[in-house]
Amino acid sequence: MSRFALVRYSRYFSRLNPLHYLNKPLLFSSSSDSGRDSESQTGPPPIRVGLTESAGRAVFATRRIGAGDLIHTAKPVVACPSLLKFDSVCYLCLKKLMGSSDKFEDRGVSYCSQECLENAKGFHDVETRADWSSFSDYCRTHNFKYPLIVKRLCCMIISGALSVDCLDILQPAALSAEMIKKIEDGYGLLWNAFRKANFKDEDVAFLTKQWYTGMLARIRINAFRIDLVGGSCGEDLLSLAAASVESEGAVGHAVYMLPSFYNHDCDPNAHIIWLENADARLNTLRDVEEGEELRICYIDASMGYEARQTILSQGFGFCCNCARCESRD
Ligand SMILES: [Zn+2]
Ligand SMILES: [Zn+2]
Repeated sequence: MSRFALVRYSRYFSRLNPLHYLNKPLLFSSSSDSGRDSESQTGPPPIRVGLTESAGRAVFATRRIGAGDLIHTAKPVVACPSLLKFDSVCYLCLKKLMGSSDKFEDRGVSYCSQECLENAKGFHDVETRADWSSFSDYCRTHNFKYPLIVKRLCCMIISGALSVDCLDILQPAALSAEMIKKIEDGYGLLWNAFRKANFKDEDVAFLTKQWYTGMLARIRINAFRIDLVGGSCGEDLLSLAAASVESEGAVGHAVYMLPSFYNHDCDPNAHIIWLENADARLNTLRDVEEGEELRICYIDASMGYEARQTILSQGFGFCCNCARCESRD
């Protein structure tokens, strides 16, 4: 069972070694800031990224991992708040802002801390040079969230925080002609915003229609919708995982490197959750043996067989053959 066809996976896998990313502090953090698991998370995570014959790229346990244990944490490559949440979550890390006393405001947006404000300063400086009203209207009217991620990505690239090829290793979705047409409208608005703000040609030379479409194709199947389950790290993570399905709506979306390498299963042995901000936690849901593949569920696992198959096929472009689907459960 695979998220994607093997042939396409292999092509991208061969270009960059995913293990290269494991030690990058921006993308992966082995120390937990919640405190709960800090003693068990020193050194590299107990996983390896490898290739399977049937499923392409996959994540495997390198030792036995107990049920409910933290496998690793992951920092987003890029995270972006939902348009509706701009006033209520940190503009960088998506942490919920409780009141005006714990907001750090800067040029019309709010951060949870001085640290987030400082860390966002590079791309925020770039962003505030341009007028985004038409682009934001386009996203709001169509209820599009992914173009906002590309916009932030552009600002981060121009500020020097990210490289142009930072998401190239991720698998792109196959896009229909109709989707590409809508994407091109957004590209035009984004390009115009930079052009009208008199950005130097060399600063925005990377922003071709092809690059923009390629980024959206990757973000479409690799972005995670972030539902925070609260900051109470003393609670049982398995019940927090269940609660995340019912929480009050996404605070935003983010793209990660390592979590994107996990394949899907409708009865997964691992789970991705967010406690208080866009830093992801990958936990086991049951005991996992050494060498076993770790899989997460990309969708709401409580749905029936037909609904799951439809969403996985239309949203992610694959037909799920996991054990649960084989039994038509
Ligand atoms: Zn923050
Ligand atoms: Zn399945």
